Amino acid sequence: MKFATQLIHGGQTIDPATGSLSLPIYQTSTFAQESVDHFGKYDYARSGNPTRDALEEAVARLEGGTRGFAFASGMAAISSTFMLFAPGDHLVVCEDVYGGTFRVLTRLFSQWGLEVTFVDATDTNAIATAIRPKTRALYLETPSNPLLKITDLKEAAALAREHDILTIVDNTFMTPYLQRPLELGCDIVLHSGTKFLNGHSDVICGFAVVADPDLAKQLGFIQNAFGAILGPQDCWLVLRGLKTLKVRMEESQTTARKVARWLAEQSQVSRVLYPGLPSHPGYAIHSRQADGPGAVLSFELASYELTKRLLEQVELAAFAVSLGGVESILSYPAKMSHAAMPAAERAARGISDTLVRLSVGLEDADDLIADLKRVLTP
Ligand SMILES: *Cc1c(COP(=O)(O)O)cnc(C)c1O
Repeated sequence: MKFATQLIHGGQTIDPATGSLSLPIYQTSTFAQESVDHFGKYDYARSGNPTRDALEEAVARLEGGTRGFAFASGMAAISSTFMLFAPGDHLVVCEDVYGGTFRVLTRLFSQWGLEVTFVDATDTNAIATAIRPKTRALYLETPSNPLLKITDLKEAAALAREHDILTIVDNTFMTPYLQRPLELGCDIVLHSGTKFLNGHSDVICGFAVVADPDLAKQLGFIQNAFGAILGPQDCWLVLRGLKTLKVRMEESQTTARKVARWLAEQSQVSRVLYPGLPSHPGYAIHSRQADGPGAVLSFELASYELTKRLLEQVELAAFAVSLGGVESILSYPAKMSHAAMPAAERAARGISDTLVRLSVGLEDADDLIADLKRVLTP
């Protein structure tokens, strides 16, 4: 089945009990058991719920994995995955990792002894140099947030395999429609499903997907033991959002390409970071490992005054935290996604005070460009 068909017919979409085309929201905390000796497939809803099962199966198939796990947020998926490791273990993490991931690693997991080295993951030698005897995993985002840096996933995963360590990829920006890290040799795919997978800015959720049955077992244990599961109503909303993933991604990406090209021509814009522009340093690698550049781009403006005016005066794109919704969203990494990162760390990573991130939604490209133009050239 091709991806588009898989989105509609790939998972368990029809309710086996009634034939309902929309899988019911099994709003229950527990399930009655018939026999003391044999419990049914479902016993307690933290351990399993049919609505959640359908969503987990759908996301796992799209990523080409064997098991998927739905969590209460992207951070819950990420943090639960870090539970695979033990005090004294070491991780190599890409340096412009999502701010919340940076925070949970440096403020919480550091407390129980998980060690981390941040590296410029666009440089495979830098990754190799950071690997120690106690290194257990490589943690990557490509394109990264907010600088859209590109890491060669195949090369990184091969390096990790040589050292017998896991490769974990946060695939939030791409979704499996555009990039499938498991096919490139990576071990765990993570998502903030809050973004493109759900796509309608109305649910907070996260996912982990794996191919290896042993890893699936370990993550299944953690999901049930730690308990940061996604509730059935939210699972149902994501099941609905997923059906239009392809058409949303295609349309937003087409518009993002137009907006990126237009921004690159403006004198008030000092640089545009978008893997769909041939001038992007990671263009060749990204084109090889992904099916498109996606719908998120960042750009830098000539001054702070202009940055502030843009964020406050653009009308069609909401000035907000988040991305991946049907509505365009402009965000300001220095005070939003990366506010948790100390100013010196931000500066060292190139996240300046004139950097703006745009997540392109489903508005008409001409309208979005006209809105940006009105503010940039008053
Ligand atoms: C938003 C985001 C997260 C965190 O997800 P939540 O659903 O907000 O907890 C993690 N990684 C990336 C790349 C994100 O954009």
